[in-house]
Amino acid sequence: MSKPRRKEFLVFGQPLIGDDEIAEVTDSMRQAWIGTGPKAQRFEADFAAYKGVAQAAAVNSCTAAMHLACVALNLKPGDEVITTAMTFCASVNVIIHAGATPVLCDIDPKTLNIDPEQIEAKITPNTKALLIVHYAGRPCDMNAIMAIAKCHNLKVIEDCAHAIETEYHGKKAGTIGDTGCFSFYATKNIACGEGGMVIAKDADSLARIRRMVLHGLSADAWARYSASGFKHHYVTDLGFKYNMPDLQAAIGIHQLKRVEEHWRRREAVWNRYVTELAPSPFIAPPPIESNTRHAYHLFTIRIDEKRCGIARDKLLEEMTKRNIGVGVHYLAIPEQPYYRERYGWRAEDFPEAIRYGRECISLPISPKLTDEDVTDVLAALCDIVQW
Ligand SMILES: *Cc1c(COP(=O)(O)O)cnc(C)c1O
Repeated sequence: MSKPRRKEFLVFGQPLIGDDEIAEVTDSMRQAWIGTGPKAQRFEADFAAYKGVAQAAAVNSCTAAMHLACVALNLKPGDEVITTAMTFCASVNVIIHAGATPVLCDIDPKTLNIDPEQIEAKITPNTKALLIVHYAGRPCDMNAIMAIAKCHNLKVIEDCAHAIETEYHGKKAGTIGDTGCFSFYATKNIACGEGGMVIAKDADSLARIRRMVLHGLSADAWARYSASGFKHHYVTDLGFKYNMPDLQAAIGIHQLKRVEEHWRRREAVWNRYVTELAPSPFIAPPPIESNTRHAYHLFTIRIDEKRCGIARDKLLEEMTKRNIGVGVHYLAIPEQPYYRERYGWRAEDFPEAIRYGRECISLPISPKLTDEDVTDVLAALCDIVQW
């Protein structure tokens, strides 16, 4: 019964890389300019145009983007930044690395995003910012969040790792808060292997982030090696080594060109999952809210053990046996030992995130999937649970 239906393992979240990406990388190699340079600059300009903003700063990960966004807030020990209990550990780590204390909020089970009512309850005189995550690509309730931020004078960082194409009431994700941070990790909606981007409402703040991308050196230090003549550059801020090399940008330029095409393909896969799983005992993601655009980054189902007759972890195992790569996004943050020890977070204080983190499985939803691949995923689920 558990004989694999597929010969080949279906890798979870595999990117769709075209000939244009390969040719652009090859071009960088042939020109022997593989570090940060003109292609990173072009990717920044193209991404800024896509988001309808004046400027963007390319970095080597979304973690770097969010770290810089936090550092730019000049947080002091004792300052608090509120974030969600249902996210990747990077969202929490950057707050700690910037010297502040992370404060967690539970999620709204209807959206799986941070619950604005709970944000209000967690605000103290030390709260400086909100780091919100558009989980799976579904926008957070930004009207409520921005109203809270305005009322309490808080900065808002948007973790848009899942949310490149996301829109909320006509606004693009990352342009609503003070800074927007994007990921181009291998499994994300634009895949460069590693990479990220920062956009910011305030031009001075983005200029400072841009300096901190490369050691805190005065602007565009990479240009000191170019033909325009030697220039000295000065350390004007305490920065990091977070720049994006042209080899990565070469991939990103062409991934961005096809972002809509890939989104449409994922939308088709999403709709097929929703339709075909309707009679199953699995719980599909909530419907998409009106006046928003979902980025379809993750398609997650919930496995209620009683309803499905199988535990989540057992289902993960059975899918893997059938050569289908699946994921868990995520075990809730308070389940992680480091934070439990350091901050004393308890599962019972975040019931919705904990429960979701124990019930969820992410099915493959990459633009690389063929119709046959999707059929295999559904057939494997049906074989295990039999609805
Ligand atoms: C992937 C991810 C990140 C980190 O992105 P990197 O580019 O790998 O640093 C941060 N937050 C969320 C929600 C993510 O999914």
